[in-house]
Amino acid sequence: MAAAAVVEEEEVIIVGAGQSGLAAAACLSLRGVRSLVLERDDCVGSLWRKRSYDRVRLHLAKHFCALPHAPHPDAAPTYLPRDDFARYLDAYAARFAVRTRLRREVRRASYDVAAARWEVEAVDLAAGGKVELYAARFLVVASGENDEKVVPEVPGIEGFPGKVLHACEYKSPEGMKGKSVLVVGGGNSGMEIAYDLAGAGAVTSIVVRGEVHVVTKEIWNVAMALYPYLPLWVIDKLVLLMCAVVFGDTAKHGLRRPAIGPFTMKCTTPAYPVVDVGTYAKIKSGEIRVLPAAVKSVHGNLVEFNDGKQYPFDAIVFATGYRSTVRRWLKSDDGLIGDDGMATRSYPEHWKGENGLYVAGMVRRGIYGSYEDAEFIAEDISKQLHPEAHGNGNNGKQEQLLAS
Ligand SMILES: Cc1cc2nc3c(=O)[nH]c(=O)nc-3n(C[C@H](O)[C@H](O)[C@H](O)COP(=O)(O)OP(=O)(O)OC[C@H]3O[C@@H](n4cnc5c(N)ncnc54)[C@H](O)[C@@H]3O)c2cc1C
Repeated sequence: MAAAAVVEEEEVIIVGAGQSGLAAAACLSLRGVRSLVLERDDCVGSLWRKRSYDRVRLHLAKHFCALPHAPHPDAAPTYLPRDDFARYLDAYAARFAVRTRLRREVRRASYDVAAARWEVEAVDLAAGGKVELYAARFLVVASGENDEKVVPEVPGIEGFPGKVLHACEYKSPEGMKGKSVLVVGGGNSGMEIAYDLAGAGAVTSIVVRGEVHVVTKEIWNVAMALYPYLPLWVIDKLVLLMCAVVFGDTAKHGLRRPAIGPFTMKCTTPAYPVVDVGTYAKIKSGEIRVLPAAVKSVHGNLVEFNDGKQYPFDAIVFATGYRSTVRRWLKSDDGLIGDDGMATRSYPEHWKGENGLYVAGMVRRGIYGSYEDAEFIAEDISKQLHPEAHGNGNNGKQEQLLAS
């Protein structure tokens, strides 16, 4: 750390003002603990405001998508549109007086054993990269599992004459009518973008290489509601039964289901079922073509696939995922966060490391995961700062949440 710079002392530094960081700050504040949130972007909830497409709605019903102490009102739509959720996050930050410093990119955080504190270096992007130094006893990593786009390297892509986008840059199908568009990736974003494009008159193809569980949001909400009461394998059976009635055999149309059940998959792997927004009907009707082989190379406007086939396209959208970037700036090696920037331990043991280090929103549990992590973390920090207020120090709050 540069010796001459002023170090700002805080109790808790939180990196990231997405839903996970805001929820952690609010839960701390309600326990009388002061925190400061450092956020690279110029707004809170930037994933929803800037890195998602216009037609996105939350896939889960609103009662699974609220942050602590702020249920959505009865009048809110069951499946919140993106902009409503972004406004909800703004209001949440204001209501809990979350202290946020925007346009601060954390470049380094390391633990000083002698001083027993985290030292955090951030740059002020609005001030030409001026370096700022912070110190805190506790550090909460809430920088997101979707921080950076992942785009495969495709030989020849630089010579493709049309538009090439990642899903986080795709907003709407404007200008795509009549164009031949390739969507690469059969996850939730790819499937929904393909639907959006086809609905607007683009001649749409989607690459779906692997196996995929397609569900409806109604079926998925039933599964979520049953989760506290039934074993995973029973929920899987019920979900697959309902899916068979609604969709029939999806493999006939290029969407093979994995051997692992959909709910077990969600709970035990990083993969998530595709919540169908109408894409499947368009695939069945032939409006969207499913291509089974990976993109191999590009020659002008011709895309060549691993099965040897070649087709011309006017545009390509890579819905090929995201990665966490924590490992670039977090200089700690206690095993809390793996090389992939995600929590190493599985739920519910994932959120607490050594020396006052915590991670929020990194076990692919969506908005509900942010809710739980915030409560666990805030309770734990508050217990250390104010043991007198916590009686015998048992972990009642976590037990209560896990049982709910
Ligand atoms: C298109 C799309 C649709 C989705 N739909 C749903 C849904 O319906 N339901 C659901 O539960 N989940 C959904 N998800 C998952 C959702 O992304 C996560 O639940 C959520 O974004 C995680 O919030 P977060 O606060 O952990 O991370 P983010 O929202 O990614 O916030 C992290 C923040 O940290 C900031 N940051 C990162 N690095 C630094 C740094 N070094 N310094 C300072 N700031 C930094 C980023 O700018 C960002 O603002 C969806 C995801 C996508 C991409």
